[in-house]
Amino acid sequence: MAEAEGDDRERRVIKNVPEAWKADIWAHFGFYKVNGKLDKTYAVCKTCHSKIKHVGNTTNFKNHVDSLAS
Ligand SMILES: [Zn+2]
Repeated sequence: MAEAEGDDRERRVIKNVPEAWKADIWAHFGFYKVNGKLDKTYAVCKTCHSKIKHVGNTTNFKNHVDSLAS
């Protein structure tokens, strides 16, 4: 149960993170564009489209990728 918000107003494209973000983990995630800019509040998993709150570190994202791999 990854989709907690039922946010399916429209099918949206996941944009890549800024090129300056070099951590490998970001290859697995992107952001939705909202009102013309990337919404960096939540990162979106490219594999399962889960939205994961972006709190300034990558721990949540690493945990998510680990859970996919297991
Ligand atoms: Zn995922």
